[in-house]
Amino acid sequence: MSVVPHVRILPDGRLENRLADSKPLYSDAEAIAEANRCLYCHDAPCIAACPTGIDIPTFIRKISTENVRGSARAILTANLLGYSCSRVCPVEELCAGACVYNAWERTPIAIGRLQRYATEAVLAKGVAKDLLPKAAPNGKRVACVGSGPASLACAGYLALEGCAVTVYEKRAVAGGLNVTGVAPYKMHAASGSAEVEFIESLGVTIRTGVTIGQDVSVADLLAQHDAVFLGCGLGADATLDVPGTDGPGVHGAVAWIERMKLEPGYGLAGVTSAVVIGGGNTAIDAARELAKLGVRDVAMLYRRTEQDMSGYAHELELARSEGVRLVEKAVPASFVRTVGGLEGVALTDGRTFPCQLAVLAIGQASMAPLATSFPGVQVDAKGRVQAEAGSGRTAHPKVWVGGDATGGELVVTAVQDGKRAARSIAQALGLPARAEAAMQAGAR
Ligand code: SF4
Repeated sequence: MSVVPHVRILPDGRLENRLADSKPLYSDAEAIAEANRCLYCHDAPCIAACPTGIDIPTFIRKISTENVRGSARAILTANLLGYSCSRVCPVEELCAGACVYNAWERTPIAIGRLQRYATEAVLAKGVAKDLLPKAAPNGKRVACVGSGPASLACAGYLALEGCAVTVYEKRAVAGGLNVTGVAPYKMHAASGSAEVEFIESLGVTIRTGVTIGQDVSVADLLAQHDAVFLGCGLGADATLDVPGTDGPGVHGAVAWIERMKLEPGYGLAGVTSAVVIGGGNTAIDAARELAKLGVRDVAMLYRRTEQDMSGYAHELELARSEGVRLVEKAVPASFVRTVGGLEGVALTDGRTFPCQLAVLAIGQASMAPLATSFPGVQVDAKGRVQAEAGSGRTAHPKVWVGGDATGGELVVTAVQDGKRAARSIAQALGLPARAEAAMQAGAR
């Protein structure tokens, strides 16, 4: 990857750099050989399984004919964040899980790795922006709140339509969970930042260190822009209301993963046992990260049984193969502390598990306070922002929403939310229908 500002501000000495890529970049020969296995199916089930509707057989065929730029164009037209999606998508559950090879009990096409091969090539050469036609400036101004995948997708598509788009990010680092939260064996922060730079290269302005409601008022934001997209994601990690929770050694999962990925000098010295509390994909990620970083005993404590877990079964199997053990029907009663620090966690059934580190992966707060500070915008009982299905338009005529703020979970569904909102905003602003052709792929 080229070294440009967003990548350059990432500090050296980050713990995540000790974790190797579990699916390394294909060589040219490997990519062509894998592409040639594709049957280019009619009515390809892999396309239907992609939330952004990427024309998978077409991009794979272009790799087989060594037309890498054409392949990347096919991907990015349907999914501007096709690079990070190639790294983080649960392809076993989506495109590769739908590949016809599965029906013959043969290994499905490695769609994610081929997608990475094509998109990483054009990002590394800095030519990705040249693949996408850009309209002349149209005088419309759009704000995107948050810089995660939903906002970046919305911003990028609207910039291509000629809008002046500004992304407002409260952190010093742009990119949202793609930079702060992805398991390092899937993608390091630098790769997420490289994709942020690609979106910026489309003409998007990114302002970091700006909190809406503090540095810029909601009223000013609405007055200064023709449309606003809320891609603000979720808030702080949820915590447990049991004795001993507050204090050193107990961390929220999202906060701990961010430290591990971004904090220079952060390490795990003295940690030989760790517990992760939760049964979702974030819990599995944190457990795998701890095991891969050399913690000898990593236990996932889950309050129900394995069948009830929301985390993917294939990810749990990988975690087990790396030494993580799952403890079912485990409900924490208290954290055991001494003057020396955290000693363990005691369960309601009397079992205890020694640990020097505990990670709480039991959900995150909603961003309802921010969302509802926009007049008319409403949330449901779970704090999910309410919007029109298919467009993400809220009850405020200038405000759209998408991504985790509406209850989504995957990077790729957040991208699709951003794309659909961009199309809806373009229509609402009376922009030419040219947007339709570029953004129609995957419309559902
Ligand atoms: Fe290729 Fe599999 Fe998709 Fe068929 S289903 S087009 S073989 S990737």
